[in-house]
Amino acid sequence: MIGRGDPTPTSMTVSLYNTLNRTKEEFKPIHRGKVGLYACGPTVYQNATIGNFRTFLMTDVLRRTLEFNGYEVRHVMNITDVGHLTDDGDEGEDKMMVTMRKEGKSAWDIAEFYTKRFLKDMERLNIVRPTVMPKATEHISEQIELIKLLEEKGFTYRTSDGVYFETSKFEAYGKFSGQNLEEKEAGTRVEANPEKHNPSDFALWKYSKPEEKRQMEWDSPWGVGFPGWHIECSAMSEKYLDSPFDIHTGGIDLKPVHHENEIAQTTAAHGNALANYWLHGEFLLIDNGKMSKSLGNVYIVEDLILKGFEALAYRYFSFTAHYRTKLNFTWEALEAAQNALNNLRDVVRDWDEPTDFDKDAIQRFLLKLNDDLDMPGAIAEVWGLVNDESIESSIKSATILKIDEVLGFNLIDYVSKPVKVSDKIRKLLEDRKVARENKDWNASDVLRDQIADAGYMVEDTSSGQKVRERHD
Ligand code: AMP
Ligand code: ZN
Repeated sequence: MIGRGDPTPTSMTVSLYNTLNRTKEEFKPIHRGKVGLYACGPTVYQNATIGNFRTFLMTDVLRRTLEFNGYEVRHVMNITDVGHLTDDGDEGEDKMMVTMRKEGKSAWDIAEFYTKRFLKDMERLNIVRPTVMPKATEHISEQIELIKLLEEKGFTYRTSDGVYFETSKFEAYGKFSGQNLEEKEAGTRVEANPEKHNPSDFALWKYSKPEEKRQMEWDSPWGVGFPGWHIECSAMSEKYLDSPFDIHTGGIDLKPVHHENEIAQTTAAHGNALANYWLHGEFLLIDNGKMSKSLGNVYIVEDLILKGFEALAYRYFSFTAHYRTKLNFTWEALEAAQNALNNLRDVVRDWDEPTDFDKDAIQRFLLKLNDDLDMPGAIAEVWGLVNDESIESSIKSATILKIDEVLGFNLIDYVSKPVKVSDKIRKLLEDRKVARENKDWNASDVLRDQIADAGYMVEDTSSGQKVRERHD
């Protein structure tokens, strides 16, 4: 018998859509059986939104899928705790300072507060903790070393406000996202910083302004200041993974600037690629539009919980679209996901204790996962299993528990665990059974209502009364 946690019996090919080559490819790791995975992490001067979490859930599914296939995954996710500027062009106000002003807290307290919040939400969504979560502020010297190397190799220049990467010196700049420098220049409306040689040049190090004392600032060979946003990912990925490493993930918005810049920094410094595979998650929309403060629709996990939903319902909801298509969030859609999850739990409660799993069912599920993380297809397989009357329920129990290693719905708490009721409810059920035997339908209905008031639904099946938790 193969039990939970054992590797899946058949090792299979995982194919992933690699945005580097714009095609679906068979995944081949650098080291046999191992995967180095880097995910751009959260900025911790505000709450991560449910949009951000769509992307983190995608990476979670990727990691779990690779592990399901028997790979050992080293998953690195950075915590961007240095304040950065309000636009990609290294201009505007420091976002950390905006929060400091609003909340009257220190930069360090804000970063700590939102990091804790983020970790809590990750847990609520059952996202597996990355192997390492390095903080940008704890890796300043690594970032300085990398900037020094870029400087030695002639890829940088200094302006009055910082040290910049000269994108025109990096021949492949723009290739990744399919933009060329001229297009980028044409697309830039205002040339914000006249000292920049090219509009796409970006800050590696910014100086603190002479008149202000920043709470987060460090000494460097170029002057007191703080690192640019992009450098932390190049510096921390090479510290905690190989260079190149296997897979890099992030939301689609990061591709044209942040990821382009990460690639430029690493390749200019070391002469090799940053990562062999890139996966980008499409955006979550709200009511078919953008999530924005002015529309008041920037939702966080806590908002869903306050409305009576479980974070896991959002997890289920995020699996209803392929990660490369946009997903539209509505409260109705979230409710449908919560209902689906509740139904699944109700069904598996009635199944027998797990025995062997069904290899064919696992295989069908795996085929969907391994086809570029087709979660809607994988979820359809789950319901196919539920409705397959040819499979014994003890086998279904074992199969769904195995599958839940990727789904992450914590079904272990439900499989083969009928609802436990108090003595009081048990008595009401017993009375109702007697009433029905006596064909006293009025009494039976009154008892049903009393049971409902206590939070349970009773159903009459061929094998007698069945009780479920009420979900409304
Ligand atoms: P940030 O904390 O802003 O750096 O974002 C964290 C991650 O969330 C990045 O990978 C972004 O690309 C991603 N992201 C931001 N907004 C959305 C959205 N509406 N839907 C999906 N992913 C998003
Ligand atoms: Zn990054």
